[in-house]
Amino acid sequence: MLKEATLVRPLQEMAVQCRVCEHYCALEPGAWGKCGVRTNREGKLYSVVYGRSVAAHVDPIEKKPLFHFLPGSDALSIGTYGCNMRCRWCQNWQISQVREVDWEHDNLGEALSPEMLVDLAVKRRIASIAYTYNEPTVFFEYTYDTAKLAHERGIKNVYVSNGFMSPDTLEAIGPYLDGINVDLKGFTDELYRTYTGTRIEPVKRNIATIARDTDIWIEITTLVVPGLNDSDAELRAMAEWLASVDPDMPWHVSAFHPDYQMHDRSRTPTQTLKRAYEIGKAAGLRHIYVGNVPDPEHESTYCPACHTLLVQRYGFSAKPHWKTSGVCHQCSAVIPGVWQ
Ligand code: SF4
Repeated sequence: MLKEATLVRPLQEMAVQCRVCEHYCALEPGAWGKCGVRTNREGKLYSVVYGRSVAAHVDPIEKKPLFHFLPGSDALSIGTYGCNMRCRWCQNWQISQVREVDWEHDNLGEALSPEMLVDLAVKRRIASIAYTYNEPTVFFEYTYDTAKLAHERGIKNVYVSNGFMSPDTLEAIGPYLDGINVDLKGFTDELYRTYTGTRIEPVKRNIATIARDTDIWIEITTLVVPGLNDSDAELRAMAEWLASVDPDMPWHVSAFHPDYQMHDRSRTPTQTLKRAYEIGKAAGLRHIYVGNVPDPEHESTYCPACHTLLVQRYGFSAKPHWKTSGVCHQCSAVIPGVWQ
C-alpha cells in the first residue's frame, strides 16, 4: 500500500529528499530511493510497502539475536521488501534486494496493518514485535505506527538493524523502541563501501548514541566472514571500540555461510569464532556470544563477576537459572538487560 512518507525535505521542481537513512536520496518525480521501496510520485515521497509483511512469523527473541532481552520470550517478527545496504553475503537477499516493486501488481505479502499486528500480539500474549528480516528503517512509517500502538497496549518493540539510519529516524522511533540489535559488519570504511555500498561512520555514531544517550537496550552482531573481517587486528579493533562505548553491550560473533553473491569462501570455522570470543574478552567486553553454530558453552550467559551460569542456551532455547531475573544468584551482581 502506498503511504506518504515522513521525514522528507522538499527540494526544487517537485524533487524531494528522503531523510530516513544516511543516503539522504534526492529524488526527482518518478525516481526511486536506493532502498528500492520509496519513490517520488508527483512531488511527494511514498513508501510502497506500508501495511504489508512479506514475512511474518513468531520467532524466539534469541533468533534476532537478543540475549539480554526477555530470554525465552517470543517476538512477532515482520519484514518487507527493500534495504539500504547491498551486502554481498546477505542471507535474506530474496526480500532485501528487491527493487522498484510494482505495488499495484506485485505480491507484496500479507496485508497486516499496524492495528492487526498489535491485536495479534495482544491476543497471542506475545511480548514484543520485531521489525526484522530486512532493514526496518526503509519501512520506517510502518514500524513507527505499529510501535506506537504496541506501546499503548503494553507490547515491546525491537529493531534488527544495520545501523545506517539518520539521526532524525533514531530520534523519532527511539521513544517506542525497547531493544535493538545492530550489525557491525567490519571495522573499516573500505569494507563498508566495497561490500555494502555505505559508510561505517554513521553506524558507529548510532551505536554510540543508542548505548550512551537512550534507554534502548542494544546488542551488536558481527558476521565473521573468512578473509574479510576475521583478522586478529580487525576483530580486536572492533572489540576494543565496542568496549570503549559500553563493556556491558553484548557482542554476537556469528558464522557466515556462502550466500547471494559471496560463494568464493567457505563457512566460518568454529575455531575462528572462538578466537573472536577470546579477543572480545581480552578487550574487556563482558558478554560475548557465538552464533550460527551449536555451542552451548559460548551461547550461554555467565555472571561476569563470579562466572556462574545464569541463562543456559542451546540453539534458540533459553533456560534462566536465576531466582531473581537479572541478578546473579551466587554473588548478587546485577546483569544489564531487559529482563521483564
Ligand atoms: S530510506 Fe531509501 S529512499 Fe530514504 S534515504 Fe535511505 S535509501 Fe534513500
